[in-house]
Amino acid sequence: MWRGFKMKCPACGKGRLFARFLKATPECTHCHTDLTCHEADDAPPYFTILIVGHIVVPLMLFVELEYLPPIWVHMVAWPALTLGLTVYLLPRIKGAVIGWQWALRMAGFGDKAESQL
Ligand SMILES: [Zn+2]
Repeated sequence: MWRGFKMKCPACGKGRLFARFLKATPECTHCHTDLTCHEADDAPPYFTILIVGHIVVPLMLFVELEYLPPIWVHMVAWPALTLGLTVYLLPRIKGAVIGWQWALRMAGFGDKAESQL
């Protein structure tokens, strides 16, 4: 999962996991592990929303209660922080989910491992 979070191949930790922002490479550029069989689906956005929400909402409430800033501060700061955290975390969480599936031979990774035996 940590290798995936670092956006590296879950098998070797050296090759790139993503060809583009959220598009996984068909195979690892280093060890040629097939990466097409992951089924991350809705898990990365779910976990990203969960984590970002638990960071932004308490911060927003804390700042409002402690400093009472003008409304424009809220209108600028929180969408920017939410967008920034989401863009940063979403591919990393998707990588971690792919690494989790690879490690537990879930999704199509189990089929590939069994067929190679
Ligand atoms: Zn690899």
